[in-house]
Amino acid sequence: NRRDSTDILIIGAGPAGALAATLLRRQGRRVTVIEREVFPRFSIGESLLPQSMGLLEAAGMLQDVVEAGFQYKNGAAFARGEERTAFDFREKSSAGWGTTYQVQRARFDQVLADHATRQGAEIRYGHQVLAADVAGERPRLTVRAPDGGEYAIDGEFLLDASGFGRTLPRLLQLDTPSDFPPRGALFTHVEDGIAQGGPAAANFDREKILITVHPRHCDVWYWLIPFSNGRASLGVVAEQSFLEGYAGSDTERLQALVGEDPGLSRLLANARWDTPARQIKGYAANVKSLWGHNFALLGNAGEFLDPVFSSGVTIALKSATLAAAALQRQAAGETVDWEADYARPLKRGVDTFRAFVRAWYDGRFQQIIFHPHKNETIKRMISAILAGYAWDETNPFVAQPERRLASLEAACEVGG
Ligand code: FAD
Repeated sequence: NRRDSTDILIIGAGPAGALAATLLRRQGRRVTVIEREVFPRFSIGESLLPQSMGLLEAAGMLQDVVEAGFQYKNGAAFARGEERTAFDFREKSSAGWGTTYQVQRARFDQVLADHATRQGAEIRYGHQVLAADVAGERPRLTVRAPDGGEYAIDGEFLLDASGFGRTLPRLLQLDTPSDFPPRGALFTHVEDGIAQGGPAAANFDREKILITVHPRHCDVWYWLIPFSNGRASLGVVAEQSFLEGYAGSDTERLQALVGEDPGLSRLLANARWDTPARQIKGYAANVKSLWGHNFALLGNAGEFLDPVFSSGVTIALKSATLAAAALQRQAAGETVDWEADYARPLKRGVDTFRAFVRAWYDGRFQQIIFHPHKNETIKRMISAILAGYAWDETNPFVAQPERRLASLEAACEVGG
């Protein structure tokens, strides 16, 4: 029976896995990544946040991303009926990058994975993790190779970066339900046909993600993420029960929902729907613990909140950065407390986003951003969170997100 060995075993070659692999190779560790798919492969999650630029830069991966020619992004725009508001991420209170990209993930993930390979990481594409044993001295995986044969591989430490595959949470019963209701998304890519200079485009900025609130249901929203090639990612998010109220194919359901918003309908009047829409649901998930005996969960394999603030890839990259730093100290002979050194610092930012996501769905955040009178200092602080700087303790919205949002909401009521 075949039995392989490595230093660091990683499940999944998405952004979390590729960044962790690169950082660990730079520390001189042997790294083996087990990836179920053959790249390039589609992934959802196309709008990055500027905070991710600093994380890619620190890993030496940014140049490859810049040279790939993705759509430049400098902010987020929001629409509700005829109301419009926008955040320019360069006008933010936190230090660091103020711009980033909107990326086709098939290409973006391949750029990162290829970088990890050039650094000497071994990525086994088409290999699927079937079982995990973390009880022994060294964690061990059972893997199915593309030829159908199974083999075992062990390592000193195991990182689960398998995203929505949630390999270890499933295999080790670490799953716990999310505290958000089950939502789903219908989405596709279109040739958007939004001619620059045309009447529909007058209020449209390709350099920002556009989030549109449904005209009648404030917890239903659409994303429009323009790419650099005249195409765009388009999707709608709602509670699963709401989406089930629409009949037909996923494309017909998405078209019906887009048709309900006059602003979005105008904008996409000339769009060519050339790709069948798809549905993803029940993606919000949590775990009992982000680590265990010689293993840790990265990115989406840990917790996934909600797509509204485009925080997923940033959290994935942050988790990989924190885990690689902890492993470096461990390799140097230091004792690492994975709760204090990994889980808690990661959750700091995740909890900031959690407070914002909650405020989005109960309407508070919308009330704040569409309020006609804006305090510039507060806008810069909110802009910093939307840009992904959710770990910046100098920002009061990181230190006390719930209290800050509550006090703003009260101010809106007075002001509005
Ligand atoms: P992934 O990118 O999912 O990579 C995991 C990899 O593991 C995959 O390649 C998979 O093939 C592999 N794998 C899985 N199981 C196994 C197995 N058993 N064996 C071997 N390999 C395996 N994020 C943003 O930043 N911006 C957005 O605009 C955004 N929009 C979103 C919209 C929606 C509707 C949803 C649901 C999510 C969105 N996200 C967004 C979140 C984003 O998709 C994820 O957070 C991000 O892809 C997580 O990266 P990751 O590296 O953790 O996992």
